[in-house]
Amino acid sequence: MIAVVNGVLVTPDRVLKGKTLLFDEKIVAIRDADEPIPGGARIIDAAGGYVLPGFVDLHVHGGGGADFLDADPDAIETVLKTHAKHGTTSLLATTLTCPDEVLYAGIGRLGDAIENGTPEGGSEILGIHLEGPYFAAASKGAQAITEQKIPTEKELNELYALSRGHIVRFDAAPELPGMDLFADWTRERGILASIGHSAANAETALAYYAKGFSHITHLYCSTTTEHKEGQTVHGGIVEAAYLEDGFTVELIADGKHIPRETMLLCFKIKGAKKTALITDAMRAAGTEAKESILGEKNTGTPVMIEDGVAKLFDRSSFAGSVGTMDVCFATALRYGVPLADAAESCTLTPARIAGFADRKGSLDVGKDADVLLFDGERNLKKVFVGGKEIKE
Ligand SMILES: [Zn+2]
Repeated sequence: MIAVVNGVLVTPDRVLKGKTLLFDEKIVAIRDADEPIPGGARIIDAAGGYVLPGFVDLHVHGGGGADFLDADPDAIETVLKTHAKHGTTSLLATTLTCPDEVLYAGIGRLGDAIENGTPEGGSEILGIHLEGPYFAAASKGAQAITEQKIPTEKELNELYALSRGHIVRFDAAPELPGMDLFADWTRERGILASIGHSAANAETALAYYAKGFSHITHLYCSTTTEHKEGQTVHGGIVEAAYLEDGFTVELIADGKHIPRETMLLCFKIKGAKKTALITDAMRAAGTEAKESILGEKNTGTPVMIEDGVAKLFDRSSFAGSVGTMDVCFATALRYGVPLADAAESCTLTPARIAGFADRKGSLDVGKDADVLLFDGERNLKKVFVGGKEIKE
């Protein structure tokens, strides 16, 4: 049993002072500071710092020099250990558009890794997030789209079987053919369908909200806004996201992809309960690399790291972030998002969007003891995954 005393608990929907947090592998209790601490408990003095639930990252490809799609036997563990050190206690393992054989093999390895359980010292994989391959070439960003792929029931079922049922999120461009089938297929399996790398206008985005697409992949990045099609003006995905309260959104909060005013506008309209902060981290996250590869090691796209962000060599597009969730949280605070809102967008909101809020995302009794300790200056000091401390 661990007892954290003298902390400010950001649960995240309440900010509590004068409380003791007790946990083993689960959150056991939040007690008044003057109540006795169970004998034998390890007491940690938070010294007035902040205590938060662990960060939940809905969108992460890699880190520590590895990508989730790499065939190396230790690649997945390397990514998980890298992000755990930066406060991500659970995440969705994200794939990207790549050759079929790389994607299929990668999904198989991720499905096995989830079945094998969380490695010592790493974050927990909640499920697999397929970013593609059914994307619009017009809105590809850094995704390597060479041929337009259209979903078929056969391929969807194959991917699902390979994942051992662990696909929890699937991003696609709803303006493509085959998307009614895709929407039905994801809805029947309880998979979160997200509009991403799409050139859809607002009408299409709203029509597919009604069919089950309820999330927007990295809003403002490879999405659309108000535009002309021929001589007719249309709203874009951004307007649809704001108009329809039911849409949840995610922002790449590395401090590079989204400017301050845009993040604040999103919090103002959508609020912390509908806005998740994500890293969209690629393999160079948590490293000092100046050159790297976006995607799987042998088939990915060479990129450079410049000014703290990955870019294609011709600088035509960002190529994912090198951010970690502690950076995203700090960026939101620096931009002026209130503490409890910033915390919620990094914890409970993504847990709810992914469908894991019953055991992740808040310091509620009975949930997994994914706990972060910050000092009074909001520097991350300690990370616990399922009650186990992550060591450097
Ligand atoms: Zn991504």
